[in-house]
Amino acid sequence: MSEVCLYEWLKEKLDQLVYSNPERLQVEARARTADGREILEAVLGSTQSRYHILIQAAIHGREYMNALLAVQQIEEALKNYNELLEQVCFHVLPMSNPDGVVISQRGIEGIRHAGIRKELEQCYQNDMCTGKAEKNRKEYWKRWKANARGVDLNRNFDSGWELFQGVSIPSADHYKGPYPESEPEVRAILSVAEEYPLTCTVSYHSSGNVIYWDYGCGGELLDQDRKLAQTVSRVTGYEQVSSVQDAQDGAGCSDYFVLERGIPSVTIENGAGECPLSMEEYPSIWSANRFLWPALERLYAR
Ligand SMILES: [Zn+2]
Repeated sequence: MSEVCLYEWLKEKLDQLVYSNPERLQVEARARTADGREILEAVLGSTQSRYHILIQAAIHGREYMNALLAVQQIEEALKNYNELLEQVCFHVLPMSNPDGVVISQRGIEGIRHAGIRKELEQCYQNDMCTGKAEKNRKEYWKRWKANARGVDLNRNFDSGWELFQGVSIPSADHYKGPYPESEPEVRAILSVAEEYPLTCTVSYHSSGNVIYWDYGCGGELLDQDRKLAQTVSRVTGYEQVSSVQDAQDGAGCSDYFVLERGIPSVTIENGAGECPLSMEEYPSIWSANRFLWPALERLYAR
C-alpha cells in the first residue's frame, strides 16, 4: 500500500463515485492543510434528513488504513443500502489528516513546501534529543501521527485542552498545538457540526480492536453514548472501554463532541498490530465494520 499515494487515490476514487452516483453523493473540500491538501467530506444521502452521522478517519497520520475502510463503506452503502440513505445522511471525512498520511507513507519527501520540510526536520532533531525518535529516520516518519505542523490533531480540540500536558513543541505526536482549534483539520471537522445537527459521531483510529466511549458525561447523554457504544460493539465484536476509567488523554474529537456539544460519540480502534497496520489486517477490519452503518441507521431512524 505504501506505493500508492493514498491521498491522490482518495480524491480520484471519490470523484468517480460522485460521477456515477450524483444523486446520492456529494464531495466537498472543507479546508486546506498547511501543505495544500484538501480535507474532503463525502456527503452521502439527503442533507434534508433528520439524522446526520459524522464519521471521521485518519486524524492520526499513520492510521491511514481507516481511510480505505471509510471509502469501502461509502461504496457499499451506494451499492446495497438505498433505503439507508433515505433515512440518514452520513458526513464522512475519510482522511482528516492528509498531510500526516503523506508523511507516514512517504516521509518528508512527500511534503511539497520546503519550509515545512525544514520544520519537520527540526521535529525529528528535537524528538531525537528527547529519545522519542529512533535513529532510523524512515521508521520515524512511518510512525508519524501529527499533521505537517507537528500538531497532534486529536489533542487540539477544545475540551480538556488546558489540562492536557503532552509535549511542549511540535512533534510526531502529543503536541496539542499553540491554542485549541488552531489547526485547519480540526476546524474542518467542527464546520460539519456547525452546518448540520449531528445525531452522533464516530472516529476511526488504530489499533487495539476496542471501542472507547464514556467521556465523562452523565444522565441522558451517558445513556445515549452507552447505546451507541453497545451497537458498535455488537457489530464489530470489539470490547467497550470507558475512556474515563482507562484515563485516556483529553482534547480529542470524541471528548469534544460529547462534553462540549452533547452529541453521543465513540472512538473505534481498528486492528491489532503496530501502525501503520499491515495490509494483511484489512480483511478482518472490513468484516468487523461492514455492517456498522446500517446498524447505526437502525439505532436512530427506526
Ligand atoms: Zn489515533
